[in-house]
Amino acid sequence: MSVQQTLVLIKPDGLAKSLTGNILTELSGTGLIVVGAKIVQVTRELAEEHYQHLREEKFFDELIRYIMGEFHVKRILALVYHGENAIASVREVVGATNPEQAHPSSIRGKFGRITTKGVFENVVHASENQKEAEREIKLWFRPHELIQAIYAVESKKVTKTESFWKDESKKK
Ligand code: GDP
Ligand code: MG
Repeated sequence: MSVQQTLVLIKPDGLAKSLTGNILTELSGTGLIVVGAKIVQVTRELAEEHYQHLREEKFFDELIRYIMGEFHVKRILALVYHGENAIASVREVVGATNPEQAHPSSIRGKFGRITTKGVFENVVHASENQKEAEREIKLWFRPHELIQAIYAVESKKVTKTESFWKDESKKK
């Protein structure tokens, strides 16, 4: 066993059904800690990159539309969990890919469904192995968005324009 980090996405059906609290409660049973969290509006580019290994599947196009929120709401909650054996611990709580086959006490077993059109609404994503976890965490998060990172970080000098809250106290 080793200290790992793993990516969890609460998918658009999870948010549309207000399941965030339930899902976080289930995941807290793992004893892992959250080191990053953010709401994301998923672009087609991000969705296709995330699910690149499923490009050849017949359900790919539908999957991309699902994760982009076209059937529910256009946002997902992305989280990085950190701790001993994080990848398998989270996958265990999440349950099998097919929500109708997932154990009834797992997140997907409790809250997932297959629609009449055949879309797997399985509520959450969780990284499958260390290689995928690293690829996915680096795809969804920048180093400064995690309070703790287990992957090597390098600094580069860049010039950029950033947004700040406008100081309106000097109005009038
Ligand atoms: P996961 O690691 O358990 O999420 O499963 P996969 O990596 O194999 O698949 C990624 C996602 O594609 C799943 O979570 C589902 O949302 C979707 N998916 C996988 N298999 C099927 C399928 O047979 N039919 C449909 N409609 N969606 C699927
Ligand atoms: Mg997978």
